[in-house]
Amino acid sequence: MRLIEIACKERLKSILHNEGLRYTSQRQEIWNELLESKEHRDAEEIYYSLMNRGIQVSRATVYRTIDMLVKNNMIEKLDIGDGKARFEYNDKYKHHDHLICTACGKIVEFYSKNIDKYQREIAKKNKFELLHHSHHLFGICEDCQ
Ligand SMILES: [Zn+2]
Ligand SMILES: [Zn+2]
Repeated sequence: MRLIEIACKERLKSILHNEGLRYTSQRQEIWNELLESKEHRDAEEIYYSLMNRGIQVSRATVYRTIDMLVKNNMIEKLDIGDGKARFEYNDKYKHHDHLICTACGKIVEFYSKNIDKYQREIAKKNKFELLHHSHHLFGICEDCQ
């Protein structure tokens, strides 16, 4: 097991403990599923991906575990405006923002040092202690124009 995986496993264990939930291999598999994917998927897609990998887990457990991971900032919940919540691993060392096509739902990731810097300055000016942020730009992608 790589060091990062061990760190992530310990983090999951401590969060489950704080939530009063048991650490189970199913919950670990759900966390791994998000940790190892670069996609922006909804809970159903995550559930079917687990099924396809032969992991026996109920839909309810998938939904509840995802909610718990969002609540603890382990994963990010994305609202791209189509009524379906999408989820991705919240890698605080590789932060990125999103460009979202409102016609086809395509999501493009970007990172701007300057945008992050301005956001921190704005928070500071307003005496906000910044915990995390979510920055989405909505528009029409090249293919849909
Ligand atoms: Zn598009
Ligand atoms: Zn993303």
